[in-house]
Amino acid sequence: MATAAATQSQPVRVVLRVRPHLPSEANSAEAPCVGLLGSHPGGEVTVQLKDQYTSRNECYKLDAFFGQESRVCEIFDQEVSAVIPGIFEGTNATVFAYGATGSGKTYTMQGTEDLPGLIPLAVSTVLALCTGTWCSVEISYYEVYMERCYDLLEPKAREIMVLDDKDGNLQLKGLAWVPVRSLEEFHEIYSIGVQRRKVAHTGLNDVSSRSHAVLSIRITTDVVKGKLNLIDLAGNEDNRRTCNEGIRLQESAKINQSLFALSNVISALNKKEPRIPYRESKLTRILQDSLGGNSHAVMIACLNPVEYQEAVHTVSLAARSRHV
Ligand code: ADP
Ligand code: MG
Repeated sequence: MATAAATQSQPVRVVLRVRPHLPSEANSAEAPCVGLLGSHPGGEVTVQLKDQYTSRNECYKLDAFFGQESRVCEIFDQEVSAVIPGIFEGTNATVFAYGATGSGKTYTMQGTEDLPGLIPLAVSTVLALCTGTWCSVEISYYEVYMERCYDLLEPKAREIMVLDDKDGNLQLKGLAWVPVRSLEEFHEIYSIGVQRRKVAHTGLNDVSSRSHAVLSIRITTDVVKGKLNLIDLAGNEDNRRTCNEGIRLQESAKINQSLFALSNVISALNKKEPRIPYRESKLTRILQDSLGGNSHAVMIACLNPVEYQEAVHTVSLAARSRHV
């Protein structure tokens, strides 16, 4: 079945996922601030954000809405699975989870032991399609922290250099590509990388991810190479609320800058502008070969259902990126 993601005319789809309210959360009496207002024949949806205290509300148009009850396998089936066959034909693709810390990005991309996220689902789909000797699967896993890239599959978090080769093609010098033949083998390699991912403390949350983590699956056949990037972006932050200082404030500024640059690139692609500003951040530079051109991409904006200010921040950037 051809799903929306495969047949899109728009280079980057922008969809919303709202996580459920967790029993452990203190503000459990709060009503959710986000809901689906309507959907339209073209596949577009309108979401409404509503502040229960001030009754302020805002509406935004996006490509799809996954509510609190939604499961990650639905997102996979509707937004990701259709791009996988293209990778075997040499078309690159990128899936991002974007949102504030605690909004469900890692849950969506990585998943839990019982409920695999988009990353293990994609790996198992790729492995199922890649049987025999005509193709091979490799993964790389690295993070972008303070505008530098570090390999998460290397014991010493080796820095990776982002270069252009003599033909102007992107080169990630020093990045390890590890062959993966089974899902068990994948989990073994990936879990080590996950442990290495940098985490730090902020005023808002005990431990939060301060780096963008990029898991790439590369397929090599006898004729082509194709790549799927699955990215757990660093949490976007409002520094007035986190009370960040010193290095935390610098980290946060870099994170917000690179997320803004990403939004600029997506918006330029969706507006079909002649010049795409890939060079404004390390993240967008790395994605130059997998975002735009004939690549498919999906941005999943993630929301905590009771954080109105955060939701406005996330959804307005998502809607701005979509720009249609
Ligand atoms: P982020 O990576 O954006 O900081 P997490 O993925 O760590 O956020 O999610 C924050 C918390 O919410 C975690 O405890 C996670 O298990 C839980 N969570 C997120 N999404 C869901 C969901 N769809 N269903 C159930 N729990 C979720
Ligand atoms: Mg996370």
